[in-house]
Amino acid sequence: MLTKAPRGTRDLLPEECTKWVFLENIFREICGQFGYREIRTPTFEHTELFQRGIGETTDIVEKEMYTFSDKSGRSITLKPEGTAPVARAYIEHKLYNKPMPVKLFYITPCFRYERPQAGRQREFHQFGIEAFGSPSPLIDVEVITLAVFFLKRLGLDSLEVRINSIGCERCREDYKKALEDFLFEKANSLCDTCKVRLGRNTLRILDCKDPGCQKLLVEAPVILEYLCDNCRGHFDEVKKGLSALDVKYSVDPGIVRGLDYYTKTVFEIISKDLGAQSTVCGGGRYDHLVEECGGPPTPAAGFGIGIERLIMVLEANGLLDIPPIQMDVFIAVLDETYRDYGLKLLYRLRMAGFSAETDYVGRSLKAQMKYADKIPSKYAFIIGEDEVKTGIITVKDLTTGEQEKVPCEEVETYLKNKIRKGC
Ligand code: ATP
Ligand code: MG
Repeated sequence: MLTKAPRGTRDLLPEECTKWVFLENIFREICGQFGYREIRTPTFEHTELFQRGIGETTDIVEKEMYTFSDKSGRSITLKPEGTAPVARAYIEHKLYNKPMPVKLFYITPCFRYERPQAGRQREFHQFGIEAFGSPSPLIDVEVITLAVFFLKRLGLDSLEVRINSIGCERCREDYKKALEDFLFEKANSLCDTCKVRLGRNTLRILDCKDPGCQKLLVEAPVILEYLCDNCRGHFDEVKKGLSALDVKYSVDPGIVRGLDYYTKTVFEIISKDLGAQSTVCGGGRYDHLVEECGGPPTPAAGFGIGIERLIMVLEANGLLDIPPIQMDVFIAVLDETYRDYGLKLLYRLRMAGFSAETDYVGRSLKAQMKYADKIPSKYAFIIGEDEVKTGIITVKDLTTGEQEKVPCEEVETYLKNKIRKGC
């Protein structure tokens, strides 16, 4: 037990971290291009934030939260998602006094007590964005487009964008009633989970993966037919905006999302490579969350992308083959006599901005050269009697095997020229 990470969590070893940093850099870059600024919120919050924000009857709040009392008896919850904490920070720091819209992005761990399986962990991570303060459908379009651009930049173009509108509270009430009327008659054929959902969290039934429930739903009333003029107009503008930008999408009235705070537009980006856990990105508009959490009425929209699932899709498509990090130089010494000379050069190179490594376990020269290849390193500097006496270093290019003599005071210039040329 001591030597195993808790169920549903995992370590990221250095090779994997390289992939994560690569993705994080691209995500940060694209968010910057779209005018979103980074926000970091705490790992845990007051439990009430999620109960209020996400909704008491949602799967997350009912079953999935890591909630505990701290030593002074406060109820604390590890964040199960990124939006409610960002909305809380928006209110706490009065970001509503800033020019609108306030556009934020985050990269965060999330915690949900779920049954671990491929693409489903207890600690997972999300890239997310939130735009506060604009009711315009153009913001919905921007949020969806940012996700699509990001995924396209990574080389993924086989993903499906599915959008829907779940309307405002007014049209949703009418729809909920119609759906409940329809389902009450057939309640016996619903799965056990949906039997409980009926009447409490009826819309979530649309999202059920149980084949029996899916079959029942074929004939169910469709939310889009219940939208009020305002919500219908908003949805039309979102579709128009996406089409104008050539963002391909399909309308899927079955998308409801699992969180209570959504209004109007909801969307998912799906990958067929993921099997059951097919949603890479989920998001939408949530015009009441900020108010619900104690802030001023603030329309908003955003999305979350599951990083682990994204990596699974990228790897399934061979899109994450990142070459291993190479050191610029390995300093090899003939024997301990030349250690000090080697160390000085090692630190000089590091201070000059190169990555440089040496041997710390007393390898022979031959073994040091093998090790340099394995690290891997682009060049090896060999320091022996001649080098120390003459101040001229033997430089071996570990890719070509060629050797050159370079005066010690010129090694930085030598490396700069070589590395800039991509050697
Ligand atoms: P699902 O229907 O797959 O449970 P969800 O509706 O609970 O997803 P959201 O709360 O919208 O998901 O979270 C956004 C994204 O985070 C999901 O689309 C998915 O990529 C990822 N995600 C959610 N839960 C997990 C988990 N337990 N492990 C890994 N990734 C997850
Ligand atoms: Mg879930």
